[in-house]
Amino acid sequence: MCFFDQHRFACGDWKWGHFRQHCAKEYRIGETCGMKLIMQTLQTGTKCKLCEKIDTKQRRRAAEVDRISRWQREGTKFRASIDKSMDAIRNLDSEIYELTCERSRRLQGIGYQSSAHV
Ligand SMILES: [Zn+2]
Repeated sequence: MCFFDQHRFACGDWKWGHFRQHCAKEYRIGETCGMKLIMQTLQTGTKCKLCEKIDTKQRRRAAEVDRISRWQREGTKFRASIDKSMDAIRNLDSEIYELTCERSRRLQGIGYQSSAHV
């Protein structure tokens, strides 16, 4: 069990940080025994990269929805723009879905590691 910093993000996600200290089982320089323990938790105050990406895409999606409802009030004049915007929303939806899956895969991954020390 070797000691590492833990970075905790505003969104509740976290990741391992710098290696801090060896345990008694591992004496080789530059090696860790593979079991991670938390030395200290550092609050980053920001969201993780994935959540930031998801947020950005959700803001863009909301902006598209806004534009569509504005165009729809104008009648049929913006038909083509609305169709394009609908496509953009569909793309954003699948990108957001992918990112969300990636996030839960990653949470499961580090969740497994962190359960090793309980
Ligand atoms: Zn996150």
